[in-house]
Amino acid sequence: MKLLEGKTAIITGATRGIGKGIAQVFARHGANIAFTYASSAAKAEELEKELTPLVKIKGYLSDASDYESAQKLTDEVIKEFGKIDIVVNNAGITRDNLLLRMSKEDWDEVIRINLDSVFNLTKAVTKPMMKQRKGSIINMSSVVGVKGNAGQANYAASKAGIIGFSKSVALELGSRNIRCNVIAPGFIETEMTEVLDQKTVQEWRDNIPLKRGGTPEDIANACLYLASDLSDYVTGHVLNVNGGMLTY
Ligand code: NAP
Repeated sequence: MKLLEGKTAIITGATRGIGKGIAQVFARHGANIAFTYASSAAKAEELEKELTPLVKIKGYLSDASDYESAQKLTDEVIKEFGKIDIVVNNAGITRDNLLLRMSKEDWDEVIRINLDSVFNLTKAVTKPMMKQRKGSIINMSSVVGVKGNAGQANYAASKAGIIGFSKSVALELGSRNIRCNVIAPGFIETEMTEVLDQKTVQEWRDNIPLKRGGTPEDIANACLYLASDLSDYVTGHVLNVNGGMLTY
């Protein structure tokens, strides 16, 4: 059964890692896809080629941290696809350092790209979704946003900010049938983790109750649930997808 047939989704940051996994799963479930990236034009073209046989898909070079770009993206997607049913605010970065050594630049950049971005696109799609009287917004936080992490004060603040923002949006827009939920991934193995010291990575895996790192598909399947009508009565929720790293 295809769960997203006829729907249009915007996914930010889909040229690799989790965002790419979300695009692949959404396409298999029939969603047309508008996705963004910051600079990887060749990878964007590859993803378009891979998924074009399944659905309508288009990549947009669009800086998620820029307010005007989010407005422009929304207008262009509506022109091209006719509507926006689902938004996955996935784009994010890390600039890790202990607080003592963290520069103001690294603080600002992480907050802009991880948190301002979520405000920018959520704000831009609110009016069109209100007109449709339906919409699902999914914001990508992290286990680190829920529990904090030494060396990631900027990243943790941005990801915790996403949670407060999303719960408020859920309260404001629930009466318009617009849902807003959060996914908090744990340790997800992507191209990025392949280059890390494998002994350290194995130690991380061993400390996870399910004894493995997550895959982009694990996160994409959680997004699929929150994007689809299966979760029609779920809003303001933070879904931990972390193999049991955090239970409370
Ligand atoms: P990733 O592999 O580094 O990919 C990041 C994606 O975001 C890329 O497509 C990149 O585009 C795009 N991007 C970066 N800055 C952007 C900007 N300013 N505007 C538009 N797009 C931008 O990241 P990931 O590991 O898949 O993580 C995806 C999300 O999950 C992030 O929000 C991250 O914080 C969160 N998360 C990840 C993990 C994990 O273990 N991997 C755990 C918890 C949460 P380009 O290719 O063009 O640079």
